[in-house]
Amino acid sequence: MKSLQPVRGTHDLLPDAFRRHRHVAERARAVAESYGFLEMATPIFEFTEVFKRTLGDTSDVVSKEMYSFADRGGEEITLRPENTAGVCRAIVSNGLRQSLPVKFFYDGPMFRYERPQKGRQRQFHQIGVELVGVEGPLGDVEVIALGAHILDALGILDRTTLELNTLGDQESRAAYRAVLVDYFSAHRDALSEDSLARLERNPLRILDSKDEGDRRLVAGAPTFETHLTGAAADFFAAVKAGLDTAGVAYAVNPRLVRGLDYYCHSAFEFTTTALGAQGTVLAGGRYDGLIEMMGGPATPGVGWAAGIERLAMLATDVPPAPRPIAVVPVGAAAETAGLRLTQSLRRAGLAVDLGYGGNLGRRLKRADKIGARVAVIIGEDELASGAAKVRDLDTGNQSEVSLAALADHLAAFR
Ligand code: ATP
Ligand code: MG
Repeated sequence: MKSLQPVRGTHDLLPDAFRRHRHVAERARAVAESYGFLEMATPIFEFTEVFKRTLGDTSDVVSKEMYSFADRGGEEITLRPENTAGVCRAIVSNGLRQSLPVKFFYDGPMFRYERPQKGRQRQFHQIGVELVGVEGPLGDVEVIALGAHILDALGILDRTTLELNTLGDQESRAAYRAVLVDYFSAHRDALSEDSLARLERNPLRILDSKDEGDRRLVAGAPTFETHLTGAAADFFAAVKAGLDTAGVAYAVNPRLVRGLDYYCHSAFEFTTTALGAQGTVLAGGRYDGLIEMMGGPATPGVGWAAGIERLAMLATDVPPAPRPIAVVPVGAAAETAGLRLTQSLRRAGLAVDLGYGGNLGRRLKRADKIGARVAVIIGEDELASGAAKVRDLDTGNQSEVSLAALADHLAAFR
């Protein structure tokens, strides 16, 4: 039956996968907090306008990937495809412009109607940070350094390259835009249909096209560098100098652009060759125009997002599942004693799994299956003597321990 399958591009996170996800999110949150970025959350849906206005009509996300619907009240709603727009909306809604700069970390599901493949899903999860209210290049440096630090904490940094580019300021973009329109117009016949549509409205976007033919044209396109204003060039130089000071290695990639309309100045991606085609693990940039695009006052911002699924595939030292203590009552009389014992051990702070049914052999098999570290066996004999058998399931060693001393004895196996 179709309805017993998850929707295409969505996945259940069973405990082993969930543990990897949680590890990524927890490590990231801890590092983010050490940089003064505090966790917050926005709703997973917003008015469609929030995304449409900011990401741009010609972006892949808005033109093809959004999960949008009219709710029962007729409101146009979209499941968030990314969280920067939502965080900026929240800053305005909550009057936080009074207390700029603000530094936020988030973690949660995002939704994009894309062709599912390894590392690309329709519901996926991102961690991300936003630094809003800092105009200068130090903001970019801190945000990028934080990304590198998190990748390092996950054991991933040395398998990635930080690619860095500048998208300049408005004046630089206008100049570069004109040059690009000339270049692509001269190669109009070779452009994909999508890129033809972008030619007038947003030619920079063509640089980010995934179409093979477009990519060949893009390889020969003029680059941004020669069209930067003095101020934009200085900004880029300061970001690079700051990264050098912070000890963050990068490679300038003059072809790097980001898929969304709101970026200016720094654009960056940490990429890896370890994941096949889906090589970008963490990506972001500066978005000084975003809040203004939403109808708020001009407010600078810079941030990034990273796909948790991709990070989880790469992360090293994910902690193993915790190993519980298995309480195994044997015989009807021991059931009640077993429950009582289990509860008292849990209250003493131990992780305890109570065997629910079956004979001794079956319950021990279950204890093994859940990875229990020790089994505490109580039957009628043990009840009579006020002691339990404690079996070390790794070594097979067994000893008698009085019920009164049990919690202390088991603490060693925690
Ligand atoms: P791509 O070029 O791979 O489509 P993007 O530019 O759309 O990426 P961003 O919007 O920058 O991606 O999102 C930041 C990160 O979120 C990506 O680098 C990736 O790790 C992750 N990500 C984006 N889309 C997906 C998806 N559909 N499934 C899983 N992870 C994703
Ligand atoms: Mg995409």
